[in-house]
Amino acid sequence: MDKVKKIQQLKEEKNAVIMAHYYVEDDVQAVADVVGDSYFLSEKATQVDASVIVFCGVAFMGESAKILNPHKTVLMPDAAADCPMAHMASVEKIRQVRRDYPDVAVVCYVNSTAELKMYSDVCVTSSNALKIVKALPNKHIYFIPDQYLGRFVANQCPEKEFIFNDGCCPVHHGLTVESLEKVKKLHPEALVLVHPECRSEVCSMADYAGSTAGIIQFAKTSKAQEFIIGTEIGVLYELKKQNPRKQFYVPEQPPICADMKKITLDKIILALENMAPEVVLDEDAVKKAHKPLIQMLELAK
Ligand code: SF4
Repeated sequence: MDKVKKIQQLKEEKNAVIMAHYYVEDDVQAVADVVGDSYFLSEKATQVDASVIVFCGVAFMGESAKILNPHKTVLMPDAAADCPMAHMASVEKIRQVRRDYPDVAVVCYVNSTAELKMYSDVCVTSSNALKIVKALPNKHIYFIPDQYLGRFVANQCPEKEFIFNDGCCPVHHGLTVESLEKVKKLHPEALVLVHPECRSEVCSMADYAGSTAGIIQFAKTSKAQEFIIGTEIGVLYELKKQNPRKQFYVPEQPPICADMKKITLDKIILALENMAPEVVLDEDAVKKAHKPLIQMLELAK
């Protein structure tokens, strides 16, 4: 039996749904029931009927799915698939900032560990960060863990005072203005679309900076026919599917997230057969991290 059929069969047997991020391999996206960016997947995770969620992404995504569905079984096909940026902030620093700025709101990008979420006031994704920060009554915002998304939001939110953290996504950080300009020289008509996890100077030179879903929407609705994509190359699968006549280019060394690429069809099959590796969080973590995630879903409506 081929792998796709095997996965379909196991899904039915186990009453499972497969959720996948746009950055995983094409064949994994193709077999998933739900594909999206972090915000879409968090929202969908609250509406799932199946008793098992197979989360094709990195650890913080599986944790968020578990926090939003504590009574469901959440499987991660590769337990070692993790996001380095998710760990680039500390509870100690959060406590320090709270002491220094008593009115501060700790705004936590969903690309973070469950532990960081437990000590935050609200979560955000790149799709809704600006809307949520603007809706908060607090003057001071401590944005963790990604400094670049924090700065991207701060530039559009002059009424607030931001405290930045020094974390960043190593994958998007590798993308430079020079590498994009090199592609632009070859394709001068192409619009540059980047993710706000990129360096600030990369966001400034782009024609559009926004979430993965935002990039897909922009490419679909734009009259332009050519685009230079400045985010993880997994998104090309959806871009080409939705726009078969448009052209997409990437820099010579495009951003590739090695952790997202750890998820394979074989590992999905094994996860469903063995019902492991399972995301396990203690009750206290689920209770405390649930609050900022739900707060995000409410404020983003
Ligand atoms: S692309 Fe960057 S932020 Fe996203 S999972 Fe990979 S390392 Fe983390």
